[in-house]
Amino acid sequence: MGIEAALGVRPLLNAAGPLTRLSGMPLHPEVAQAMAEAATECARIEDLQAAAGRYLAEVSGAEAGYVTTGAAAGLALAAAACMAGFDIAAMDRLPDTRGLRNEIVIQRAHLTAYTHALRLPGASLVEAGYMGYPGQGITWPWQIEAAISERTCAIAYSYGIEQGSIALPEIAAIAHKYNLPVIVDAAAALPPATNLRAFIEQGADLVAFSGGKAIGGPQASGILLGRKDLIESVALQHQDMDVYPQTWTWRERYLANGALPGPPHHGIGRPMKVGKEEIVGLVVALKRFLARDHEAERREQHTRLAAIAAALADLPAARPELPPLSAHGGYPSLQLHLDETLLERSTASVVLALLDDGAPPVAVSQNWLAQSALGINVSALRPEHDQLLIERLRGELMR
Ligand SMILES: *Cc1c(COP(=O)(O)O)cnc(C)c1O
Repeated sequence: MGIEAALGVRPLLNAAGPLTRLSGMPLHPEVAQAMAEAATECARIEDLQAAAGRYLAEVSGAEAGYVTTGAAAGLALAAAACMAGFDIAAMDRLPDTRGLRNEIVIQRAHLTAYTHALRLPGASLVEAGYMGYPGQGITWPWQIEAAISERTCAIAYSYGIEQGSIALPEIAAIAHKYNLPVIVDAAAALPPATNLRAFIEQGADLVAFSGGKAIGGPQASGILLGRKDLIESVALQHQDMDVYPQTWTWRERYLANGALPGPPHHGIGRPMKVGKEEIVGLVVALKRFLARDHEAERREQHTRLAAIAAALADLPAARPELPPLSAHGGYPSLQLHLDETLLERSTASVVLALLDDGAPPVAVSQNWLAQSALGINVSALRPEHDQLLIERLRGELMR
């Protein structure tokens, strides 16, 4: 049963990319099938996580891996691990961080809407440096060092914000000098697939990726990679912990040797629980992702966008612009610059009309809305829908 049959909601053409608010991208049938089959069976979640973790470690070079409900959940769990470690009383108390090291240092240019997730388990962000615009102020290593105190539990790093900011290897060197872990938000850093290894190699201690973006996994999935002890702390704070010591799966690992006085209770991660469907779907999708030729996919998407641009080239009020493929990975986007005067309507009203006033509804990227342009990204659009997209765009932009 599909979305429309179950809920009466019309599915849309997603020309914006795998955005969460658009429910991500259509899953490959192989991934959807694996999730459907897993959904009819049961297993201990910790066994599924352990097996998935071994696979994630193997393909990333990290000591350990863990499946989360997304990169944002990965950041929240990472912060919880850096604060609580193996202190089960602290696990029991978060987000109350009294008495704990609870400060995460971050260069100001790396603050994003997603760094909010680091604060979810009770951590505070300590900002250092200036916004990354050469000439207006940049961040220097001494500013990071000056922000570190006895309250610091980690340093956070956001991938992809380079201008005027300190690179990861240098951040990691400073962090490790003070015995602190580095948490990297690498949610959208794939492709290239080499980035699955790159941040660990550059010294990151915990790295969060989205499962529902380029990997093509379930929308509510993500990957956390990193140091074994930190991933173990994540697991202890994330699982269903309504357990007796005598029958707890991990009694040998933690209780027999006195490492923990007992099993912790439900931790701060419990509301971010991952289902068997997500764990299986993520692993199957990642296997497919690692076998795919991402450069060929990028070129193919660029070719599709060029064809879409050509099919719109005669519109008087829309000027297509297709930048060449970036050398840094990522999927290409086409921009349609609108002549709002000629159209007698705003770019925002076109975005809304595409979503609301036609069949099928079409979602375009709003990344260039402030520049009066629609964005088209076909990474989450099935090729057989390109023609329909062209017709809907022509219909809206002709008026
Ligand atoms: C998408 C994204 C996230 C959130 O990822 P989810 O997997 O949706 O939780 C976090 N940070 C950045 C930079 C992102 O692009």
